[in-house]
Amino acid sequence: MFWDRETETLQRTALEALQLKRLQATVRRVAKKVPLYQQRFAAAGLKPRHIQTLADVRRLPFTASADLRANYPNGMLAVSIDELLRLHTSSGTTGKPKALFFSRKDVDNAAELVARCLVMTGVTRKDVLQNMMTYGLFTGALVMHYGAEKVGCLVIPAGPGNSERQLLLMQDFRTTVLHVTPSYALYFADFLEKHGVNPRKDLALRKAFVGAEPYTEETCRKIEQALGLDVYNSYGLSEMSGPGVAFECEHKHGMHLWEDNYLLEIIDPQTGEPLPDGQPGELVLTTLCREAMPLLRYRTRDITSIIPGRCPCGRTHRRLNRITGRSDDMLIVRGVNIYPQQIERVLMSLPQVGRNYLIQLEGLDEMLIRVELAKTGFDGQVEHLVHLQSQIGDRLRTELLVKPRVELVPPGTLPVSEGKARRVIDNRTL
Ligand code: AMP
Ligand code: ZN
Repeated sequence: MFWDRETETLQRTALEALQLKRLQATVRRVAKKVPLYQQRFAAAGLKPRHIQTLADVRRLPFTASADLRANYPNGMLAVSIDELLRLHTSSGTTGKPKALFFSRKDVDNAAELVARCLVMTGVTRKDVLQNMMTYGLFTGALVMHYGAEKVGCLVIPAGPGNSERQLLLMQDFRTTVLHVTPSYALYFADFLEKHGVNPRKDLALRKAFVGAEPYTEETCRKIEQALGLDVYNSYGLSEMSGPGVAFECEHKHGMHLWEDNYLLEIIDPQTGEPLPDGQPGELVLTTLCREAMPLLRYRTRDITSIIPGRCPCGRTHRRLNRITGRSDDMLIVRGVNIYPQQIERVLMSLPQVGRNYLIQLEGLDEMLIRVELAKTGFDGQVEHLVHLQSQIGDRLRTELLVKPRVELVPPGTLPVSEGKARRVIDNRTL
């Protein structure tokens, strides 16, 4: 049983006392072992004994992803090399990767947190979980794999792509749960439709854990309708051991972040100052239980907010709203700040729009949005297309304050990636 009822429903005062104890231990540990933190503490005149309350976390230095790259490969380690069990790297596309090390305790703990997430949504040992994430250096697949095994599920390490084989596995082994990116889930939904498979009748799917990239509520609904299952939002990042950081419970109203393992702050990304509950800002996380590579105040760059109030499920760990984008994904087009998620929200709310889109920035500062039509989105009447095109353009202008050019393309014609979706191509000659 991986409902850790005692930890998950701890009263806030007890939870905060536990966090403080673990924070103090983490700070003592990095002050002894990690040169980067030793230097930063010295520069700020900070000693571990200065951390007396949880609010004192603000006296600690931030850690940025650039710090991990600068200390590549093993400058951030707090244990000796022989205590390491596993290496993962981040899926970043620029520069050196970030190396993330796990000790035995870290490996077990990461699986345990995923197991807690799965049990929270009602998964049991009777479930068959088809893991459609990329196996390899990326944490997404392996950490979920071991978590699901802890629950006792039958785990199918399918990896992404090869939709024929995915379907065969689902049919033959009666898969009940998927772990998948939103972009592949949509692609796979199209594949089923094309092959005349009705998932409600022909398959045993019940749930999908969808994450690894941002997606909107509208996309979530599309996946649920097309695959005939319940989608649960799953949030994690390699720097925090991958999946299992925050997950939706059966109420599907925000993702509980496991606060016994992570200390949570939401800050203004420009000033670094804390923001009150409910206000969107950048998520900053401090690891409380990590052995091999503890991180203080890690700037995730992910934009979200805390949902105020208690969840009816009884868990006391606070909930995060859907991630609306990354502070570094923001596009500036003609001086206006735009997040790709705003565009997705508009597109996915229109039934005539299909499941894929691409934002192309071109020339001096032009934005072109290529939008796939839904299978039923075109009745052969050109004037309807023209109308839809201008309707999308108008809605986007209202949302973004900039009017992009919109191009409608037939279903299935935009490129799909097996890993994380690439939604923006910036070819500007500015
Ligand atoms: P990686 O470290 O390669 O696993 O990538 C982690 C990043 O993926 C996070 O920092 C987020 O930007 C993104 N991500 C992961 N899960 C979600 C989710 N459920 N919703 C939105 N973005 C996500
Ligand atoms: Zn809940």
